Amino acid sequence: MPDVLTHLLVGVSLALLIRKDGPRSAQMLIVLGAVLIDIERPISWLLADTPLYWIGLGSAFHSILGAVVLSYFAAACFDFENSVFWKRFKLILIGCACHLLLDLVMYPWNELGLQLLYPLKIRFSFHLLWPDFWWYPLFGITILLLAISVRYLNLRMKKEDTIE
Ligand SMILES: [Zn+2]
Repeated sequence: MPDVLTHLLVGVSLALLIRKDGPRSAQMLIVLGAVLIDIERPISWLLADTPLYWIGLGSAFHSILGAVVLSYFAAACFDFENSVFWKRFKLILIGCACHLLLDLVMYPWNELGLQLLYPLKIRFSFHLLWPDFWWYPLFGITILLLAISVRYLNLRMKKEDTIE
């Protein structure tokens, strides 16, 4: 599942860039959001041979509505001390938005693309890359290396400012 690995790497990159000085729990909420939407896969596998199986689950989760609902539930579940619900919700939703954007880049594995406006059946996709190519995780690794470089440069510039 190279696409899940790529979601994880891009989520970590995003957390390093936009919450660089925040607590680690805030960074992890962004990473959680970046992979949360694909939770429909294990749920689908578990329900596959039961009457509860729902073929539209993947489309429902991979939508703006799905991202908002999943972020809401996750923000309610991860109630850290000294954290505000809406801040947790916002961080998870940022990760979910990153996930949807990355899935839009992939060639549609799900018929013709994502139903972002679910329950409307309008499909969106940039039709760029197949996620099953062996080199696909290289995109995630490249983005992570760029994020680490930017963070390192920022830290170095801060150090030089405090020395002067
Ligand atoms: Zn996905």
